[in-house]
Amino acid sequence: MGINLKKIIFYDTKPYDTVWFDKKNTDYEILYQETKLNPYTARLARGCDAVCAFVNDDVGKETIDVLAEENIKIIAMRSAGYSNVDFKAAYGRVHIVRVPAYSPYAVAEHTMALLLTLNRKTHKAYNRTRDFNFSLVGFTGVDLHGKIIGVIGTGKIGRVFIDICRGFGLNIIAYDLYPQKESDICYVELEELFEKSDIISLHAPLTEQTKHLLNKEAFAKMKKGVFIINTSRGALIDSSALLDALNDEIVRGAGLDVYEEEEEFFFEDMSSVIIKDDVLSLLMSRPNVIITSHQAFLTEEALEKIAEVTIRNLNEFFYEDRELLTNEICYQCETGKVVENCKRNQCKRCF
Ligand code: NAD
Repeated sequence: MGINLKKIIFYDTKPYDTVWFDKKNTDYEILYQETKLNPYTARLARGCDAVCAFVNDDVGKETIDVLAEENIKIIAMRSAGYSNVDFKAAYGRVHIVRVPAYSPYAVAEHTMALLLTLNRKTHKAYNRTRDFNFSLVGFTGVDLHGKIIGVIGTGKIGRVFIDICRGFGLNIIAYDLYPQKESDICYVELEELFEKSDIISLHAPLTEQTKHLLNKEAFAKMKKGVFIINTSRGALIDSSALLDALNDEIVRGAGLDVYEEEEEFFFEDMSSVIIKDDVLSLLMSRPNVIITSHQAFLTEEALEKIAEVTIRNLNEFFYEDRELLTNEICYQCETGKVVENCKRNQCKRCF
């Protein structure tokens, strides 16, 4: 690598990341680190020009303080979600850019995969037939056709998922804080969605309002036998309340690609470690719960787009002087509302 190249420190690196970043990168020296970003590992950024982080990195205030001390001016999140970022701590010091959309299809298709697997138990059938056990006992599912699915969050992923559901003949109702204007989606209040849905799928971001959206009170309102699918962020569900709802047979099955305390476990091989999270262990032990390790995004198309857009975000910052940082986000735009006196109108950046 040439000595004049800008240096990017890349946290929580996995082999599937390097393949695509190495293909797309020509202008940076990338220092791949397996470790996650946190206030201690942030010191590794000394001498670097930018940080690239992912969903389970700690981009809280303490980390940002260290990165700012180390003269880091930009953190490129290689994700759409950003609930791990303390935007207030970053504002005015470190620009935060992200990849707002890489493949809504990847996540929406995985959501349907979870629902189909839960319902028709193909994961169990695979194991059984490999053992020449051809029994069907315990495999009875339901027709999805004609059932009511409640979709919470009708943004990019929610909308693609709704289209997939239409193909299955599901009847769709939806709830969104900011419903799509002039759309053909049937919006209802949250309460009605809880009461009417046979399946509930979560596609809203994690915010103060959505934290534990599915809690004890919400489960109490749901139809007995509802399927719950979450490919959004773990903390949208109160996991202990979900366990109770599974025990009470309110929830017929749960497909979870995310878990509220996933940072410690997901993306890592923990097969020879004692998992000291009883809620996770109990969820895993339920035959009607499927947990995948935050893999809904993991398609070739999505990884390629993530690498492409992350490099473009960095190029806008480093090489296209004072140009619009297209995918910058701050604590003001994070709210989703139109902000008066938004700095982007004048200086093309959040600050
Ligand atoms: P998006 O911003 O396009 O859509 C989010 C939708 O949620 C918007 O329509 C918004 O109005 C709505 N919303 C916001 N607050 C709400 C609330 N309080 N109640 C109901 N709706 C609310 O986002 P997207 O690209 O569709 O992604 C959705 C979520 O999926 C992301 O926030 C991210 O957490 C998650 N995600 C997960 C993976 C994965 O691999 N599992 C990958 C990408 C994204």
